[in-house]
Amino acid sequence: MTWQGRLNLRNARYARDPLPLDEACGCPACSRFSRAYLRHLVNQNELLGLRLLSLHNLRFLLELTANARRAIERGEFRSYKAEALARLAAAPKE
Ligand SMILES: [Zn+2]
Repeated sequence: MTWQGRLNLRNARYARDPLPLDEACGCPACSRFSRAYLRHLVNQNELLGLRLLSLHNLRFLLELTANARRAIERGEFRSYKAEALARLAAAPKE
């Protein structure tokens, strides 16, 4: 899960991708590892890959809900929801 849509790391286009999963994320997976390395771990069924992806996805969901909470407090949840859903529905070009 990223703000640019859902990434399928099994896709060959990420085999040499030096970027983190999500450049805006500060989780251990994004701050230390490239998409290429994470793809390698996932394709080899390494538990570290699943663990790192779980850490990233949990961080993403916590940020999503924290932003929703702040939008509710400001009375802007409708616009936040529309923007968040549009961003999440956008699939990266694969
Ligand atoms: Zn991350």
